[in-house]
Formats: sequence, structure tokens, C-alpha cells
Amino acid sequence: MKKYDVVVCGGGLAGVCAAIAAGRYGLKTAIVQDRPVFGGNASSEIRVNIGGACANNAWARETGIISEIFLEERKRNFAPHRNSYINSNLDLVLYDFLKRENVDMYLNTSVRKAIMKRKDLIEGVFCIQLGSEREFVIYGDYFIDATGDGTVAFSSGAEYRIGRESKKEFGESLAPEKEDMGIMGNSLLFLVRDTGKPVKFTPPSWAVKYPKDDIALQKRAHSYLPGYWWIEIGVPFDTIYDNEEIKHNLLAHLLGVWDHLKNEGDHGFENFSLEWVGMVPGKRESRRIMGDYILTENDIKERKNFPDTIAYGGWFIDLHTPGGILAKDKPPEPTLDPDDKKQF
Ligand SMILES: Cc1cc2nc3c(=O)[nH]c(=O)nc-3n(C[C@H](O)[C@H](O)[C@H](O)COP(=O)(O)OP(=O)(O)OC[C@H]3O[C@@H](n4cnc5c(N)ncnc54)[C@H](O)[C@@H]3O)c2cc1C
Repeated sequence: MKKYDVVVCGGGLAGVCAAIAAGRYGLKTAIVQDRPVFGGNASSEIRVNIGGACANNAWARETGIISEIFLEERKRNFAPHRNSYINSNLDLVLYDFLKRENVDMYLNTSVRKAIMKRKDLIEGVFCIQLGSEREFVIYGDYFIDATGDGTVAFSSGAEYRIGRESKKEFGESLAPEKEDMGIMGNSLLFLVRDTGKPVKFTPPSWAVKYPKDDIALQKRAHSYLPGYWWIEIGVPFDTIYDNEEIKHNLLAHLLGVWDHLKNEGDHGFENFSLEWVGMVPGKRESRRIMGDYILTENDIKERKNFPDTIAYGGWFIDLHTPGGILAKDKPPEPTLDPDDKKQF
């Protein structure tokens, strides 16, 4: 029987930092990650760059473990640190950091549900490992749910919310009048390479057609190097249960956008070829597990300080248009100016 002081479920940046911190406290720690590499949205599989607190302010820095990771990745890697350019160097840095803290790694291992000792106490997580045909329970004293979907908390019966609250519930000016499911969607990124000579691209028959004057692309800045976060789909799908259906749709849109850039007018990509296409959708939003306190828009606007602060943020209140690229006649963010390339 495997038993740990701390079991971290989900190996994105949040889970990896939590596991490193636990390891440094001398706790016997495990991390369970359902993909072959760590990093989640920031891994070489999805390729969202690390950019949170310091991204919009020249005088701000990430600090703590995430800063250590970022600096080590920059030391080893010469590719630009922006969407789509993340490569195996970051995966390897994360792996190396966890190894050095003696964290036990369960890769390709999906946590399916919490095993309860009693109604309010988790004693283990039931896992399935790809490639080894193994099913097992990992026991622990503490469980950290960093799955993004809150899989452990949800399966333990914890209270959760999904969707947007109405304006009146917390008095938030940016909230809709009535509560709804207008949450942010999942995205696939892609990378292209300048081959130095003209190359053709023939889209598959199932790619979405984006003609020259397509309204959706007029609303989205697209004549710069791809890594387009706005190839995003959310509602009317469910970002958890419809993950696969969203992925197939995203792929058809992604290849349609590339077809537009290559074949519908001159966008400056004549010499460019597809180098990499994301196959694992990056998820932004799904369940929110209810803790002791709900952070609101007003807390952020008032820059409220909390006596038990554990982290800080610097990203703006980044609300995406519900539906993403399916909301053709709207920009991907309500405030986005498609001609302002600085935003990317
Ligand atoms: C295209 C895109 C662009 C973005 N741009 C920005 C931005 O500009 N600024 C910003 O601040 N944020 C941005 N974000 C959001 C940012 O990426 C996330 O907030 C961040 O990645 C969250 O990290 P995390 O570790 O909590 O979750 P994730 O990165 O989602 O990691 C969760 C990990 O848990 C694993 N997992 C899930 N379920 C299980 C399970 N049952 N068992 C085992 N493992 C499991 C997943 O495979 C994943 O690796 C963007 C997101 C996307 C998709």
C-alpha cells in the first residue's frame, strides 16, 4: 500500500509548485498527473507561456518557486517564451525539480475519484495508469486538488459552482444580469515555421471555411505569428464532459484559420509551414470548489489585502466572450481591439 504525507493530484504548474513545496518541507510527497509530462497548460503538449503577475507590468516579477522554474527554463531554452514556443525544456525542468525534491511521480495516471474514510475525510484516491494496465489507490494524510476540474473535491462531495453569478449576488459590475453558463472555453494552439521558400497548404475537407472577408477573423487580430489563444470554444459545450467534442471542433477551426492565412489573401505566410498543432485542449474554466471565501471582482478592484495572503496576481480581469470563436460577430474579449498587436 502506498501511503504519503501529501498527495498532489494534477501536475500543472499549480500542482508541481505545491509538490515541490511539500518536498522541501521534508514531507513524503506524491504527484499524480494524467499526462506523460508535467506543466498542464504550460507543458510542451499545450504551450501556454508562463505569464501571470509580471506579464503586464515591467516592474513586477513572479516570485517563489514559479520564478525559480521560469529562470531555469530561460537558462536552458533559446526559443522565445510565448504561446506555442514552449518546448520539452520546460517539461524537463519541471521533471528535474520534482526529482530533486524526491517527489514520487505517477505520470500517465488519472485520478478517478476520492476514497472516503468518512463523509468529510479523504483517505485515498483511486487511480488508473495508462500503458501499465494498473489500477490502484494512493493513500495520504493530505490531498491537494490541482486538477483544474476539481475532480478529487467533486468526487468527495465538496460543494462547487460552475458558471457566472448574477450581478446582484456580489454586486459585480462585470457580471451578467442573470446567472448563466457563459464561462471561458478550451483552446488549441499551433506553431508555424518560415521555410525560406513558398509552401502550399491544402486543408482537409472537414476544416471550417474562413473566406477572405469572414466576420469572425475580422474581429480577431490574426496577421501575426500564430499561437492564437482565441481559437477557443466553450458554450454551448460543457468544458469537462464535452472535452473531446470541443477538441475535434477546435481542430477543424484551427486548420480553417491556417487555410485562411495561407490561401485567402496575402497575410505574409507564403513561406510558412505548419510545425506543430496542439492535440490536447488547454482548459481555462470549469468547476470552482467552494472554500471559506469567494474572491470577487470588487476585492480585486479595491486591491483588498487579506491577513492570510498566500499568493498575488497581476493579470487583468480577463473575461472572454462566451462561445469563443463560435461567437463570430464578437471580438474574443469584449474590450479587444483587433488592430492592437501589443496585446499579444
Ligand atoms: C490558450 C490559453 C491561454 C491562456 N493565457 C493566459 C494568460 O495569458 N494569462 C494567465 O494568467 N492565464 C492564462 N491562461 C490560464 C492558465 O493557463 C491557467 O490559469 C493555468 O495553467 C492553471 O494552472 P493549473 O496548474 O492550475 O492547471 P492546468 O495547467 O490545467 O493543470 C492541471 C493538470 O492536471 C491534470 N489533470 C486533470 N485532471 C486530472 C486527473 N483526474 N488526474 C490526474 N491529473 C489530472 C491535467 O492534465 C493538467 O496537466 C491561459 C489558458 C489557455 C488554455
